[in-house]
Amino acid sequence: RKQVRILGVPIDMISQEEAFQKLVLFLEGSSIKKIYTPNPEIVMLAQEDQRLLKVIEGADLVLPDGIGLLIASKIKGLGLKERVTGVDTMDRLLNYCGDKKRSIYLLGGKPGTAEIACKNIEQQYPGIKIAGLHHGYFQEADENEIIADINAAAPDLLFVCLGAPKQEKWIDRYQDQLNCKIAMGVGGSVDIYAG
Ligand code: UDP
Repeated sequence: RKQVRILGVPIDMISQEEAFQKLVLFLEGSSIKKIYTPNPEIVMLAQEDQRLLKVIEGADLVLPDGIGLLIASKIKGLGLKERVTGVDTMDRLLNYCGDKKRSIYLLGGKPGTAEIACKNIEQQYPGIKIAGLHHGYFQEADENEIIADINAAAPDLLFVCLGAPKQEKWIDRYQDQLNCKIAMGVGGSVDIYAG
């Protein structure tokens, strides 16, 4: 695994295709894998947030999502290959889940949004299993219940859309309690799929 550091933040040197192949391998693995898709705003936040930096350092895959990261890489000659967005990667994963009858859990968005997003995902990716969903406006006191719901659903993929850096910190905090193959922070994707 090759990573570059942009302002100290590690980003994987990986193409879209390589990222997808790696994620498919992660789906066959036995432990949870954490995937983040930082943009330049997150890289800037990590300058002053040591905890966030540690969280990103703990990821199994950090996709070069923001175009600004590619520009920074080009100027500095760091060698990032191409932009790998969270949305494109999620689309490929959902296609794969449809083909292989794999399951997802969608966490995040305003109440009602994940329901619409999942209905659209079911139509767009025939064969996919929606294991569960939950909105993203919960209190800390509700988190045990949400984790129990995720674990009862035992999804292959958990998409966490709480906005950055909340989603990355949430995944990191609960990684040892979550029963899924991949937990991926994908920001506003729930809104995109809800249309
Ligand atoms: N969101 C959420 N819980 C929160 C804050 C945000 O579920 O406590 C959701 C929000 O409704 C939106 C998504 O997170 O669907 C992404 O939010 P935002 O656009 O602010 O984040 P970004 O895409 O900039 O990371």
